[in-house]
Amino acid sequence: MIATAENVWNECLSFIKDNVNNQAYKTWFSPIVPLKISGDVLTIQVPSKFFYEWLEEHYVKLLKVALVKQLGSKAKLLYDVRIDNSHSSKINNITIPSSGRSFTKGVKVNNYEGSKEFKNPFVVPGIQKIKVESQLNKNYNFDNFIEGECNRLVRSAGLAVSSRPGGTSFNPLLIYGGVGLGKTHVAHAIGLEIKEKHPEKTVLYISSEKFTQQFIDSIKSNSRNDFIHFYQMIDVLIVDDVQFLSGKTATQDVFFHIFNHLHQNGKQVILTSDKAPVDMQDIEHRLLSRFKWGLSAELLTPNFETKVSILNSKIQNDGVVMPEEVVNYLAKNVNSNIRELEGTLISMIAQSSFNRIEYSLELASSVVNKFVKNEKKEMSIDRIKEVVSEYFDLDVQVLQSKTRKRHVVQARQMAMFFSKRLTPSSLANIGAQIGKRDHATVLHACKTINNLSETDKKFKQYITDISNKLNC
Ligand code: ADP
Ligand code: MG
Repeated sequence: MIATAENVWNECLSFIKDNVNNQAYKTWFSPIVPLKISGDVLTIQVPSKFFYEWLEEHYVKLLKVALVKQLGSKAKLLYDVRIDNSHSSKINNITIPSSGRSFTKGVKVNNYEGSKEFKNPFVVPGIQKIKVESQLNKNYNFDNFIEGECNRLVRSAGLAVSSRPGGTSFNPLLIYGGVGLGKTHVAHAIGLEIKEKHPEKTVLYISSEKFTQQFIDSIKSNSRNDFIHFYQMIDVLIVDDVQFLSGKTATQDVFFHIFNHLHQNGKQVILTSDKAPVDMQDIEHRLLSRFKWGLSAELLTPNFETKVSILNSKIQNDGVVMPEEVVNYLAKNVNSNIRELEGTLISMIAQSSFNRIEYSLELASSVVNKFVKNEKKEMSIDRIKEVVSEYFDLDVQVLQSKTRKRHVVQARQMAMFFSKRLTPSSLANIGAQIGKRDHATVLHACKTINNLSETDKKFKQYITDISNKLNC
């Protein structure tokens, strides 16, 4: 039989077919076109650089075995990357030598990374002109992203990246922090800023869930290559909430390749996550290590001053006038995150306008109680001391002092009683934290309160009230 490229490749295929599942065969081997054979070298055409990378990553050993069987131990495989799109069927004439990782024997290894010509195979007339809707929300911009200690690093890194997308060492820029602290907001703000400063750049914002869904759809509709091509074309890719990729290995795999392509070509990647990279679970190591290449910047919870600024900015936007003490009250009492701070404010404004009442501390306190109530806060002895002191109108210092005044003693005993009931702390530990008493004092306090709550109506009421305030 004459050793044409086609014959050799067909023989390889029949071997490959026996060694991979049908789906993989269809996806990764059927689209390959054998181009030519010269000596020990078979040239095959693949639809994209991604395709080539995938083969090298997953099937290089199999390809080697198949090819060596046909062409002997000096077999060499060359890839020809074809750019397929409807506007132009131009063949990108760059031949990439196999990286040679497994084709070691007698193979001249050309370093593919060094192949400059290959830098961007997608500069093909037509394809670059595709307009991509950025999916950016104009309401999340830098102008209304209030600066504070909590976001200084993220903000300045974001601005640096906006000035020179792909050109700083902050690539990828990974922004992480708890829920409601502004990750999505700042991610959009960076995207918008880039569009403003570099209108020619293709920017895309996407949540990792949507990305996953698109990838799954692309498999279903057999358009995986289009999916990949599309993402490889983006100049600035913003992926929100990458923690949702955890456990999704196929999506992580495809994202890994897209990421590599973008990174190698000097494109900017911006990621957000609710966890620091070290705490991310079920994300492949190689992807995690990529996440750490650039800068990981954390968004922290805002301090009092920043919360006041955020509230004032939103109040001003809504054209509302609110007394300073009310604003301060909200800032002081909503401690979870900025989304909740906003929610409380919106609720205040709604209550006030529906019921035609003034912005007062009473209104603020009732809204805060209602709003923050459903959130089960972590119980701590500190919190119990605060709530009990406030309820009895005492200073926490007084509660912990040596005084034997009856009402203070009762409040102190109450704090001990709740600490025993609501925290896992030992009697000794509770005593140590409430006025440096010993464990016997705490035990006595618990018994006393228990007895009183059964015999004294007033006491029973205290306990109900404090329980409510503690949200339990
Ligand atoms: P995350 O994505 O971290 O859960 P978001 O970006 O959705 O949080 O932010 C929650 C809300 O808080 C949004 O409405 C956002 O506009 C607002 N927000 C967050 N940070 C700031 C800030 N620094 N200044 C003004 N508003 C902020
Ligand atoms: Mg978010």
